[in-house]
Amino acid sequence: MVSRKKVCVIGAGVSGLAAAKAFAARGHQITIIERSGDLGGVWEPARSYPEVQTQSPKDLYRYTDKAMPDSYPEWPKGPQVHAYLTEYAKDNNLLGAIRFRTAVVQMDRRPDSAPGWRIDLRGPDGTAGQEDFDFVAVCTGQFNEPQTLSLPGEDAFRAQGGSILHSSQYNDPVIAKGRRIVVLGGSKSATDIAVNAVNSGAAEVTLVYREPVWRIPYFIGGLVNFKRILYIRAQEEMFRSWGIGAMSRFAHGVAKPLIWANWRGLESLLKVQLKLGKCDMVPNGRIEDGANCSLPIATPGFFPMVADKRIKAIRGSFDHYDGNSIVMTGGQRMQADVAVLAIGYKLGVPFLPQAYRDKLVDADGQYRLYRLIANPDLPDMGFVGFNSSFCTVLCADLAANWLVRYADGQLARQPTPKEMRDNIEMMLHFKRVERPAAGVYGGLCVAPYHFKHFDELLADIGVSGRRRNPLVEKFTPPDAAAYGRFLAAAPNYRAVA
Ligand SMILES: Cc1cc2nc3c(=O)[nH]c(=O)nc-3n(C[C@H](O)[C@H](O)[C@H](O)COP(=O)(O)OP(=O)(O)OC[C@H]3O[C@@H](n4cnc5c(N)ncnc54)[C@H](O)[C@@H]3O)c2cc1C
Repeated sequence: MVSRKKVCVIGAGVSGLAAAKAFAARGHQITIIERSGDLGGVWEPARSYPEVQTQSPKDLYRYTDKAMPDSYPEWPKGPQVHAYLTEYAKDNNLLGAIRFRTAVVQMDRRPDSAPGWRIDLRGPDGTAGQEDFDFVAVCTGQFNEPQTLSLPGEDAFRAQGGSILHSSQYNDPVIAKGRRIVVLGGSKSATDIAVNAVNSGAAEVTLVYREPVWRIPYFIGGLVNFKRILYIRAQEEMFRSWGIGAMSRFAHGVAKPLIWANWRGLESLLKVQLKLGKCDMVPNGRIEDGANCSLPIATPGFFPMVADKRIKAIRGSFDHYDGNSIVMTGGQRMQADVAVLAIGYKLGVPFLPQAYRDKLVDADGQYRLYRLIANPDLPDMGFVGFNSSFCTVLCADLAANWLVRYADGQLARQPTPKEMRDNIEMMLHFKRVERPAAGVYGGLCVAPYHFKHFDELLADIGVSGRRRNPLVEKFTPPDAAAYGRFLAAAPNYRAVA
């Protein structure tokens, strides 16, 4: 018999909603703590930059039991994703469980030695409170604490009217109109903002970036939706994954020339389609070596704007500010009204006591999480959405369903602490030695191994993660609705008071 737990879900983004639904569906009592005034996390309108849209196609960026509306485009805009998440919360009666404008500031083991955690909260009016929970689902995402960059001369730059914003603060096209904008960074956010600034009537737009990287167009060759080429099991199997046997290694060795040709073919296509040569943006590295969560989608319009100089692209970084100018590491000087720092976010779980953070994160920043969800040395706790990817909603949904069963001891393959530790070590070796690209973002990225990750989660839960038709399984992208059916076939249970 499984007893009902009082569960704290921290965060009301994609992952927090998935976790809350999964725990509530098993009969647990849930409370969702959200420090901002709305749900949605990165999709909350106040935090989104103009014209933000998903990189993932809508049939991949969805929960297993709720499709995005037919009226949505293939790559929905930010407000549409926000509306979808709000609907999901309503459908599952989660709205009443969310405590908005309430932050988790700290947590520790319960002083009464009962299982669970005591959580320190800061409420809407700044008042402090404490509450005990039997289990905590951490769903705080990877895009919450903006990275900062402090450089000489920035006070004087601001004093003469310049502004310096993190990319998360570029939330209104008015910021760009008639101004000289300099964006620092090479991520999708950086190119989105540069393109938006041009479209919003900026006087001048410059993008300062370290190295050119491969970017994937929404339609490869202008014709084929990238999900049909890059998201399929057949393509995933070209990457050597973890824990494989001698036969698989041998097969990979034999197929190496074909795999090599596959990637060189894709690179050639991208060079031509995106006019990378004309833009002086041909990457040095091989595309397959950098295929992970940091492989961005090409913002429509970005390369044409670089080619015709509507966006001036400079390699390097900011060195310092001088009056109303920004001086680059290569010595170039750009006059600017607005500097936009698209430099990403700090990873971390700052409210965990240091002793537990040390168990969670190694000195080199790699996370110690079994299946990217749980750590045997952090009891009564799990992480949802830390298995990020190009289809993070589906990842969060499956992780949430895994986590509730893990918490209740109901996984078909319930791991022992030793099995978890051994697996964590094996995965860390894979990320540090065999495929360093898998170590980005603290190792919290399952791309390009979506299918393998989902296979593992579903096998743990006790069901197969494969569709019946092997050709469909091999050559079509993950099917969220099919994963919903697999989950529905898993052994049922309900917690009782
Ligand atoms: C612009 C942008 C576009 C993206 N596009 C895609 C895409 O197309 N495909 C894809 O797979 N992924 C995409 N991502 C990645 C995206 O982060 C995930 O898809 C997903 O939205 C993450 O959801 P989450 O709930 O895990 O985290 P978040 O959305 O970050 O939500 C975490 C929540 O936790 C709250 N929180 C944090 N700390 C505390 C605290 N101490 N107390 C209380 N509450 C707290 C935050 O306020 C936030 O609401 C994109 C990210 C960005 C920034």
